[in-house]
Amino acid sequence: MLTRRVFQRMVMPALASLPTLAAVAFNEAASAAPVRSSLPLVMLDPGHGGMDPGAIGVSGTFEKYIAINTAMELRRQLLATGRYRVAMTRTRDVFIPLDQRVVDAQRNGASLFVSMHADAIANPAVRGASVYTLATHPSDAQSAMLAQSENAADRFASGQAGAPSAAVTNILASLVRRETRTESALMQRAVVDSLARNVPLLVNPARHAGFIVLQSAEIPSVLVEMGFMSNRADEAALRQPAHRAVVAAALKGAVERYFTAVATGAPLGG
Ligand code: ZN
Repeated sequence: MLTRRVFQRMVMPALASLPTLAAVAFNEAASAAPVRSSLPLVMLDPGHGGMDPGAIGVSGTFEKYIAINTAMELRRQLLATGRYRVAMTRTRDVFIPLDQRVVDAQRNGASLFVSMHADAIANPAVRGASVYTLATHPSDAQSAMLAQSENAADRFASGQAGAPSAAVTNILASLVRRETRTESALMQRAVVDSLARNVPLLVNPARHAGFIVLQSAEIPSVLVEMGFMSNRADEAALRQPAHRAVVAAALKGAVERYFTAVATGAPLGG
C-alpha cells in the first residue's frame, strides 16, 4: 500500500515536474462568495476543450460543450447547498492536458474528483450513462477502448508533455491507496444509484479502466459518461438544458450521499 511518505517522496516530485498552464482558472466561484475553507472541495473536470472537441455527435454536437455546460450546472447546484466548495479544471473552452487536471485537483486540496464526459463508441445503438473508476485491468473491452480514446486527448497538446507511457500509468495506478480505491468505488455506487432513478443507464454501468485522469493516489476519483454522442437519443437528450439539469441534480445527490457516508461510516443513504 502507498504510504503518505512514499507518495510525497516519489509521486509528488513527478507530478510537480509536469508542465503548468497559466490559463487554468481556480476556485472562481469560491472567491466570488466567501465560504468556510473547512468545507470539502469538489473538483469538477469537464472533459476536453479548446482544440480538442471530444466526441462529435451524430448531429454534430461537440462533447466538450456538453461536458462544460453540465459541469457549470452541477457547480451551481452544489454551491447552492452551502455545504461544499467547488473548483473546476476548466471554466471555459480551453485545452487542459490530462495530467494537469490531476495536478490541479491535488494543488487545490480536492476531496473528490468528478470527470464529466459524453464520449462516442463504434456501435451507435449503445446508449446510457456509465461511471468509471481507475484500474490497471479494464472491466471489459468497451471500457478499455473508451479509456484508450480518452487518454489520447493529449495528442492535441503540441509542444507540451504528452500522455505518460502505459508503464508509468500502470505504476501510478498500482500506487493508488487502498482507501482512495474504496472511496472511489463508494462514489461510483452513489452516482450509479442516483443516475438510475433519472436517466437510462448502460448495461453494467459501474465499470473500470486505465483512465489517466483518474490517477490521483490521494483523491477519490470517478469518470462519468453521461451518455454517448454516438447514440442519437443520448445526443438529443444531452443537448437539452433540462436534461443536463436532471443529470446534474443526480450527480449533486450522489456527492451529498457520498460525503454523508464517508463522514458517518454508514452505508450509502437514500
Ligand atoms: Zn470524453
